[in-house]
Amino acid sequence: PQSFNEAIMTSKMLGSLSKLRPANSDKRTFGHLFVLSGSRSMPGALLMGVKAALRSGVGLLTAFAPESVAAQFAAIVPEVMWVPWPETPDGGLALEGRHLLLERLDRADALLAGSGVGKEPETLELIRECVSSLPLPVVLDADTLTPQIAAAAAGRPSDAGSVITTPHHGEFKRMAKQDSTVYDSEALRQFCLEHNIVTALKGPITRVSNGKQIINATFGGPVLARGGSGDILAGMVGSLLAQSPTDAFEATCRAVCWHGLAANRLAQQQGAQAVTTTDLLEHLAPVLRGE
Ligand code: AMP
Ligand code: MG
Repeated sequence: PQSFNEAIMTSKMLGSLSKLRPANSDKRTFGHLFVLSGSRSMPGALLMGVKAALRSGVGLLTAFAPESVAAQFAAIVPEVMWVPWPETPDGGLALEGRHLLLERLDRADALLAGSGVGKEPETLELIRECVSSLPLPVVLDADTLTPQIAAAAAGRPSDAGSVITTPHHGEFKRMAKQDSTVYDSEALRQFCLEHNIVTALKGPITRVSNGKQIINATFGGPVLARGGSGDILAGMVGSLLAQSPTDAFEATCRAVCWHGLAANRLAQQQGAQAVTTTDLLEHLAPVLRGE
């Protein structure tokens, strides 16, 4: 622990989900998450993210997906409302689809963008515009973690809702325009304060910060060191944020903890080697029951 408020994550600190699902509830009680992700060349990341969001309790999920994959995805995950989004020639999300999001905006509680969107300038400009102009809490992951999009987060009106970013160290280096490859607590804290965001800086140790800071070195392990783990985490963060849009820091911590607990269960039951990333989803149920 350093001079500022920094604590080790414990599951007790986060409470259990049962408190979040009262008997007299309906689907609207649990939020509506919009997901703007995927590309023709990386469609799988989007699928992992929405599956994780659904398994983390969100009431409604609308996913805007590249038009060439949306129909196939509807057959794979029918619980999601799939909206086909126009594509760039290379299969990324095109700017011209904006109206699809704006037409439905009043129904959303949070937006998740990242998994598999790719690095096309047009797509990144679309996400930057969303961050600077939409009055919605936002979770940003993967290729959306750029200095331009971080600057858009910093310039958001204070009533637009929180921004959460979930970089691994390489993405943090790019987004924060720093030289180091490993970041200490203080660099992270400064970045979050300057940009007015919550960040989960991921790795074998994950730090969640918005000025105050929580460190997770307990939940999760090297079973997570495989492609897609971060997409699943981002889906969980988005889901929890849609369920409680004003608790961005808490939602992020809870997702990191549950993601890690699911990983521990997976590794205990099946080992860390001969598993796939989506196997994690099968272990969320007992974790969310508080077992
Ligand atoms: P990404 O790099 O975006 O796919 O995210 C990887 C996820 O897996 C993050 O949540 C990391 O914290 C987690 N992770 C990766 N490797 C390890 C490890 N060796 N120990 C614990 N967590 C890990
Ligand atoms: Mg990632």
